[in-house]
Amino acid sequence: MTSKLTGSCLCGAIRYAVDVPVTELRACHCVHCQKTSGAAGSVNAVIPSSAFRITQGAPKRYAALAASGRTLHRYFCGECGSPIYSQRANGPETVVVRAGTLDDAPDMKITTTIWTRSKRPWAWVDPASKQSPGQPDAPAAK
Ligand SMILES: [Zn+2]
Ligand SMILES: [Zn+2]
Repeated sequence: MTSKLTGSCLCGAIRYAVDVPVTELRACHCVHCQKTSGAAGSVNAVIPSSAFRITQGAPKRYAALAASGRTLHRYFCGECGSPIYSQRANGPETVVVRAGTLDDAPDMKITTTIWTRSKRPWAWVDPASKQSPGQPDAPAAK
């Protein structure tokens, strides 16, 4: 049984599908995620690019030099502004999907929190999650 997840931006112009089950989420408190979300940061599903498909519309892309020193492409809806996913310029094998754009979130939990050193004083961090002050080493992605 394969669980298929779907998601969209706020206005519905962009829709996507995820073909792998997602249970673990990663919260990011970097300054860029704070700016793009207007909130504490982002919560993401890190998945293989091969399991991610845009099924409707075409997101706009913004390239930013991340605090990690890498260029990150941030994809968002040009109509309503919702951030959808990001991808490293030199890491095409992985996409980082904004978990709040998923239509449904069965059994998902924040297991890792990164960039805690730049978190806002009012941000909440799950104390049970694995925490990293900055960018952790990429998991198995070489
Ligand atoms: Zn939209
Ligand atoms: Zn971030």
